Amino acid sequence: AEVTPEKPADAPAADDAVAISNRDRVVFPDSGQTKGELADYYAAIAPLMLPFAARRPVSLVRCPQGRARKCFFQKHDSGSFGDAVHHVPIAEKDGGTEDYLFVEDTRGIMQCVQMGTIEFHGWASRSSDVEAPDRMIFDLDPDEGLDFGDVKSAARDIRDRLADLGLTSFAMLSGGKGVHVVVPLTTGHSWETHKDFAKRFAEALSMAEPDRFTATMSKAKRKGKIFIDWLRNQRGSTAVLPYSARARSGAPVAVPIAWNELKGMENAHPYSIDEAKTLLDRAASKSLHGWGFAEQRLPDI
Ligand code: ATP
Ligand code: MN
Ligand code: MN
Repeated sequence: AEVTPEKPADAPAADDAVAISNRDRVVFPDSGQTKGELADYYAAIAPLMLPFAARRPVSLVRCPQGRARKCFFQKHDSGSFGDAVHHVPIAEKDGGTEDYLFVEDTRGIMQCVQMGTIEFHGWASRSSDVEAPDRMIFDLDPDEGLDFGDVKSAARDIRDRLADLGLTSFAMLSGGKGVHVVVPLTTGHSWETHKDFAKRFAEALSMAEPDRFTATMSKAKRKGKIFIDWLRNQRGSTAVLPYSARARSGAPVAVPIAWNELKGMENAHPYSIDEAKTLLDRAASKSLHGWGFAEQRLPDI
């Protein structure tokens, strides 16, 4: 193929690229980013995102008219995504089966973006074996008004407690208010075991330090505390995927960070979709090398 400065040899062929309509539509009214800019972000970041996002059931936050208008959480195909958005049948509690969505390449991500997707959320299991969870997430949800410093020290304490159990964990800034502590796991245990471990871990923490932590969702019981949201670890739950954009003010993104970087962070949304280049450079740095990967089993506790 001919190589031109506009079109490097390794760019996808034009007939393979997903056409993005309404590129000039403003999706983030308070900061001004358009659908075209969101698409450019995802096209650039897809190689970083796919190791975490590919081949797992996803839920999408779609805001076809921009984030200030109606957004909805979509788990099932509405029939209009395109050939790179695949289906995986999953058994429902009521005995029926529903088709969930998964993508496996940049085209899949871009077809979702074309359909107005801002956020990508993923199951904690792969579409090839949805009954086998492969990562645990402790989603730290601070009560309103709590200092981000408290969230940071909570995340570090959770890291240390997990390390005591022989588990390596990683920190992700959600792009919103909190930090997700991510524990990659080798498959081989059930959802029941997965959820029980997460629940007991969160409850043990809240019992040891009831002034700092709560393991119950109730907002009333969260006053001045951090809710350790272990409910992300139930079959059917999702968590926002690394490098997903957020449908929030300023077009922030969820970003993996190294533990030694966490100290310097002032909030959970330091990067936006305007910074794909910075995020690509960061991901190539030594401190982020291997983020999110570890061969480890859930211990018996
Ligand atoms: P923050 O740091 O601001 O809490 P977050 O992504 O952790 O950001 P949460 O409200 O704590 O947001 O939600 C945790 C996860 O729960 C989300 O990442 C998402 O995957 C899931 N979730 C949130 N809202 C819904 C919803 N309406 N339906 C299904 N799942 C949802
Ligand atoms: Mn959260
Ligand atoms: Mn939560």
